[in-house]
Amino acid sequence: MITIDAALRQARQTIATAEARQLLGQLIGRGHAWLAAHGDDQLDPAAAQLFFELVERRAAGEPIAYLTGTREFYGRIFAASPAALIPRPETELLVDLALGLAAAMAAPRLLDLGCGTGCIAVTLALELPQAEVTAVDLSPAALALAARNAHTHKVELRLLSSDWFAAVDAQRFDLIVANPPYVAAGDPHLERGDLRFEPRMALAAGADGLQAIRRIVAAAPTHLAPAGALLLEHGYDQAPAVRELFAAAGFGEIAQEADLSGILRVTRGRLTPRGPAA
Ligand code: GLN
Repeated sequence: MITIDAALRQARQTIATAEARQLLGQLIGRGHAWLAAHGDDQLDPAAAQLFFELVERRAAGEPIAYLTGTREFYGRIFAASPAALIPRPETELLVDLALGLAAAMAAPRLLDLGCGTGCIAVTLALELPQAEVTAVDLSPAALALAARNAHTHKVELRLLSSDWFAAVDAQRFDLIVANPPYVAAGDPHLERGDLRFEPRMALAAGADGLQAIRRIVAAAPTHLAPAGALLLEHGYDQAPAVRELFAAAGFGEIAQEADLSGILRVTRGRLTPRGPAA
């Protein structure tokens, strides 16, 4: 038998203290305060074994979100799994901007392309009870995860298996959002940290990282209602290229917003009357 304190001490030799607490807390269903107050309690041997397995996997680089199966996004807990990208704090900017645009719409029809965990679509559905939210993904496992998150958070999403717009019918949307893959295929970051364990199809998009964004921007006008808006997250150095793509597709009112690190991270545009005959 081993005490909670001793187990945490042992784990700290290979992983960060906070992560050790998080893994153990999650495993035995207790918070930090409880762990701190019960350091001398014995840990059940089966729990101890599971804990040290998780510690070993974490030490080998597996993302903490995949080991705990959860990640917080926009103040709520979402199920996370290797089926989808781990929700990231910078994507909360996309949600904030979408909420700002949707605020002026009575019953907005929203579309989230490549929904992954569903964290964007579920958050929008929760924050905009009048909205009708469609979310698509090409990966069946990601769709199942999004369905699970929608169920947990008690919102209804229309979930479609689709390669971007391919399976989206003639319905028009007031707002289309996406956090598409935008990392260049040869980017060394793909071989570092959490990214090594995340689905490549959710991260990498061709030699310049713009392959998915190009397809989405070009096709979006035919899926937007009059005055509809498109909102995309993109890479730290892609703002100029994405602005050009929006302009070439006929979008007006193009604006780009910086994330908390000061990086232009999201581009939005609106279909203006001078845009293409949608
Ligand atoms: N921002 C992510 C990263 O570089 C990439 C997410 C994405 O491709 N949509 O870690």
